[in-house]
Amino acid sequence: MSVIDDVKQKIDIIDIIGQHITLTKSGRTFRGLCPFHGEKHPTFYVYPEQQSWHCFGCNTGGDVFSFIMKKQGIDFGEALRELAQKAGVVIPSKFEPGAESEERQKLYQINQAAALYFHSLLNSPAGEKARSYVEKRGFTAKTIADFQLGYSLNSWEELKKYLAEKGYSEKEMLIAGLIIEPEEGKKTHDRFRNKLMFPIADARGRIIGFGGRALDDSQPKYTNSPQTPIFDKSGNLYALNLAKEAIREQGLAVIVEGYMDVITAHQNGFSNVVASMGTSVTERQVNTLKRITKNITLALDADAAGEEAMLRGVEFENALGAEVKVVILPKGKDPDDVIKEDPQSWPQLLVGVLPVVDFTFNMVASGLDLTTAKDKSLARDKLLPIVKEIKDKVRQAHYLQKYARLVNVSDRNAEADLAGIKLRQTRVKTEELKPEAAQPLLSNRLEEDCLSLLLQHPELKAKDEELLPDYFESSQNREIFIARQHSAKIEELREELDPATHEQLDALLDKSLSPNRIAQKYVEYTLRLRERYLRGLEAKIAAVLAQEAESGGKDAELAKLEELGIEVGIKLHEVFAQKRQRQLEQRG
Ligand SMILES: [Zn+2]
Repeated sequence: MSVIDDVKQKIDIIDIIGQHITLTKSGRTFRGLCPFHGEKHPTFYVYPEQQSWHCFGCNTGGDVFSFIMKKQGIDFGEALRELAQKAGVVIPSKFEPGAESEERQKLYQINQAAALYFHSLLNSPAGEKARSYVEKRGFTAKTIADFQLGYSLNSWEELKKYLAEKGYSEKEMLIAGLIIEPEEGKKTHDRFRNKLMFPIADARGRIIGFGGRALDDSQPKYTNSPQTPIFDKSGNLYALNLAKEAIREQGLAVIVEGYMDVITAHQNGFSNVVASMGTSVTERQVNTLKRITKNITLALDADAAGEEAMLRGVEFENALGAEVKVVILPKGKDPDDVIKEDPQSWPQLLVGVLPVVDFTFNMVASGLDLTTAKDKSLARDKLLPIVKEIKDKVRQAHYLQKYARLVNVSDRNAEADLAGIKLRQTRVKTEELKPEAAQPLLSNRLEEDCLSLLLQHPELKAKDEELLPDYFESSQNREIFIARQHSAKIEELREELDPATHEQLDALLDKSLSPNRIAQKYVEYTLRLRERYLRGLEAKIAAVLAQEAESGGKDAELAKLEELGIEVGIKLHEVFAQKRQRQLEQRG
C-alpha cells in the first residue's frame, strides 16, 4: 500500500473535518455549514462510508486531502504531511521534497562541474593524445563542443582534488560515481583515468553520468559511470537531449550501440540517432523513446542481430504498441564506419528496414530446407512462440498466415498449433528489475487504466477536458491528472508533482498497455468515469433527500436538491445514450 493510501485508511474524515466545522449526524451522513461559501442552512455533507464530502450549495466535493487543501490553501504534499502526522504514518525521507531534489540537484551540479573540467583538459597540453584521437576520428570543433567531449588525466586524484576545491564532499563524489572506494575505509581515487570522456545527459540536457574510452590498450575499452540516483544506463539513451527535436520532426528514432556511432551520425546531419550505450536495448529505453515517437529502428550488428531481434523484438513491439524495425549493418561494420565511408549510404541503409518479425522469419527460413519435415518442425518451434507473443491480434493473424505459407500447412492447422503453445515465461530482465514499480501499487483499475493511457499517449491530451479532476476518487491519481493538465511535457510533470506521488507516476508510466484502439478506449474510460461520478453524486443526493424528508427539512432547500438530482439524472442519461451509440457503431 502506498503511503498515501495508508494515511487515508488510518484517519477518519469525520474527525478531520469535525476539527474545522461543527458536524451533526443526520442519518448515514453528517451535516454542517459549508466553510467555502456563506450559508445559513447547512448543505455541506460528509459521507463516512465513502470517506468523502460534498457541498450542494457551491457544488464542490472530494476526499479528506482535498478538504484540507481547500480549507488551508495548501498543496497536496503539505496536506499529506499534515495528515500523516495526525495518522502517525511516517513518510519515508525519500519522499521529502527537499531531501530528494536537493540530493539530485547536487548530483547534477557535481557532474556538470566534472564535465567542464574534463572538457577544458581536452584542450590542455595534457590532453594531447586524446585530442589527436578525436581529430583522427574526424570530429570537428563544433562536434567536440556540442558533445562536450573531454579528457581525464592519467592520475589518481586530480579530479577529486579539483572537485574538493569547488566545495564538493568526498561522499558526494562517491554517490555520483566519479571516485571509487576500492575497499571499505580505503583511500578513494578517481574512477576515470587517461580516458576520452563522453558526458551523458538526460533528455533535458543535465549531465547524469559519463562514458570513458581508454586511449591505450588497457581493458576494458569503455568504462561507464555506475548506477546512481540520477543515472541508470538501462533506462537512459546517449544523446537523447541532442536528438529529441530531430526525432520529433522526422517521426523516427534510430538506436545504435556506441558513442562514436552517434557522434559521427550527428556530425553528418543524421541527428535522430541515439545510443543504447553498449548494452543491448532495453524495454525501458524503448519506453523512454515512446514518449517522443513510436517509430523506432534498431541498427543491429550483423553478428548479434539475429539473437537480439529474436529475443527482444516482440517484447519491444508490445511495449511500444507499434512495429519495431530492424536494419542490419554490413558485416564487420558499425554505423561509424558506414557513415564515414559514404554518408549517403546511411539513409539508403535505413530505407531497407524490415519489421522485426519479418526479419526473424527471413533469418529462420534462410537456414532451413523447408521441403523437409524435420526443418518444418524446426521452423514451427522457432517461429510460433514468437507469433504467440504478439499482442496485437491483427498482426498476430498476419504472421500466423505467413508462417502457414512458409511451412505449407493449412491456416487451421497453424491456428491449432498456435493454440497449443504456451506463452514464453517472462524472461529474467535483470537490467530492468525495478522493485518499486512492481504491480500492483495500482488499486483503482479504471482510473489507472485511463491515466496510463493519457500519460503514455500525449496525443490524447487535447481531449482531456472531457475529464474532470472530481472523477478521480484516488487522491494521488487526481493529483497526477491535474499536473498532467498543467504540464506540456512528461518531464515537467515529475517536477510539478510531490515526490510522494512519484511511485504511482512511475507505475502508471510503466504499465504495459495493449496497443489497440487507443482513442476508442480513452473515450470508453472517460464515459465510465463520468458515469461512476454521476452515480455517486446521485446516491449522495438521494441519501440527503431521504434524510431531510424524514426530519422535515425546509421545502426550498429540498426543492433545490431535487432539482440538482434531476440535473444529475439527465447527465447520466446522456452518458447512457453515448454508450449505446458507441455499441451500435462498433457492431456496425
Ligand atoms: Zn459550499
